[in-house]
Amino acid sequence: MRLSERMSRLGTETAFEVLARARALEAQGRDIIHLEIGEPDFNTPVHIVEAAIKALRDGHTGYTPSAGIPPLRQAIARQVSQRTGTEVRPEQVVVTPGAKPIMFFAILALLQPGDEAIYPNPGFPIYESMINFVGARAVPLPLREEKAFRFDPDEFRRLVTERTRLIILNSPQNPTGGTLTREDLLIVAEVARERQIMVLSDEIYDHILYEGEHRSFLSLPGVQTQTILLNGFSKTYAMTGWRLGYGVMPVELAEQLTRLMVNSNSCTAAFTQYAGIAALAGPHDDVGKMVAAFKERRDRLAAALNQIPGFRCANPAGAFYVFPNVQGTGMPSRALADYLLDKAGVALLDGACFGRYGEGYLRLSYANSLENIQRALARIREALAAR
Ligand code: PLP
Repeated sequence: MRLSERMSRLGTETAFEVLARARALEAQGRDIIHLEIGEPDFNTPVHIVEAAIKALRDGHTGYTPSAGIPPLRQAIARQVSQRTGTEVRPEQVVVTPGAKPIMFFAILALLQPGDEAIYPNPGFPIYESMINFVGARAVPLPLREEKAFRFDPDEFRRLVTERTRLIILNSPQNPTGGTLTREDLLIVAEVARERQIMVLSDEIYDHILYEGEHRSFLSLPGVQTQTILLNGFSKTYAMTGWRLGYGVMPVELAEQLTRLMVNSNSCTAAFTQYAGIAALAGPHDDVGKMVAAFKERRDRLAAALNQIPGFRCANPAGAFYVFPNVQGTGMPSRALADYLLDKAGVALLDGACFGRYGEGYLRLSYANSLENIQRALARIREALAAR
């Protein structure tokens, strides 16, 4: 079959490949502990599930407007306005099946061959994949362990050129769990304003934060006409499989993303959108309980990893990942990840799955029970001692 040339430039998300390998081992009877996939191990709160069932019973089973049902767009605009202190109108909101389409569509709408886009590395692999897919140049912005996985401001400024059209930020961050400070955001805002560059701010982990308060890029002065805020329900409300996310952006871009919705999904499932209204309305006790559980796991996991010879692990402020430096083991991170899956039955990810600046690190998701995390740690220690 002859595929289009652009397909050769499309990347992937290795977490799904490792999950498939882990499942294949399970099919052979092996017991695998899953620390590879970024999905809360909690159920969606009951009142959200009930709202979806009610919507189905009430007959909300047809197409909806492509940008989302008005009450959900209004609820999102209201919540984002409150959280950012910036007036957001419902027409600026585009609802999509999961948050991923916002990156897909924004990159498709804004970039063309010859353009450059700066993206975090290590970072969510879909940014680089999509930038390459549309034929633009992907310019990695290194995140440094010695800077708590933030970027170096001078290095950032040096990467900006006449051709830079898009800067992607992600805080709290996947895969490092690191967060950007208000000062970091202000540096990006200043450059973006001066050079008229759009900023895609991926804030999908904004509620999964253990220290300090989340600072949205959209809350900064003078950036509203240049910001695409990406967020969604997958992580905060344990709704990964529902597929519900959104973007907030200038109205003229929202109209373009809506056209991309018309050309692809038509709309997001109606009952899912009604569930989204219930999620935003609350109560939020379940979210609080989930975040408290994540915090305890993070503390225990990071402390235990630091006891393993050759591992050095920061205690990151957000998301549900730790990103230990494993260079001290003397094994390349890819070989170590493979070894731990095969020998210890622990599925985790090589840091290089998130870009070349992730080489020498592993990503462990602690979206798994404390009991399983303890079992995984024991197995990792044993497998490393047996090398
Ligand atoms: N952005 C980041 C940084 C993520 O880690 C993820 C999911 O893993 C997404 C976006 C996508 O979220 P969704 O499942 O809502 O498409």
